[in-house]
Amino acid sequence: MASIFTRIVNGEIPSYKVAENENYYAFLDINPLAKGHTLVIPKMEEDYIFNLPADVYAGLWEFANKVAKAIDKAVPCKRVGVAVLGMEVPHAHIHLVPLNSESDLQFSNQKLSLTKEEFEQIASNIAQEFLSL
Ligand code: 5GP
Repeated sequence: MASIFTRIVNGEIPSYKVAENENYYAFLDINPLAKGHTLVIPKMEEDYIFNLPADVYAGLWEFANKVAKAIDKAVPCKRVGVAVLGMEVPHAHIHLVPLNSESDLQFSNQKLSLTKEEFEQIASNIAQEFLSL
């Protein structure tokens, strides 16, 4: 069965898309630690990020680098933090989280509750910056 993230890539489940190319997809985390919390995934279905083929793995980080730069421009923050967990969804992904302090990257923190309009606005702002890079 397709993973929930593959279903997002295929448009079967809606997402707030931030960026996409042939092999990778980036979208807002639905339970964000901060405004602009983004997930970057390979379209290839593989549970564990460190089991990705070397070229897909390298390309994922290259794509995430560009997405992080777009987040940096679109979201007020000191810098963008990175985390890889995969404890919940068995489809490799990188978390990019705008940070103002170290504690902003604690996954035990209370998640933000944003409106559809807020998600749409944030995704659109990041997407616009991504396209201008
Ligand atoms: P992890 O697997 O890295 O431990 O956590 C998975 C992350 O994916 C969580 O931060 C969770 O909020 C996010 N997530 C899970 N299901 C969905 C979904 O259907 N849509 C979106 N946008 N994010 C999801």
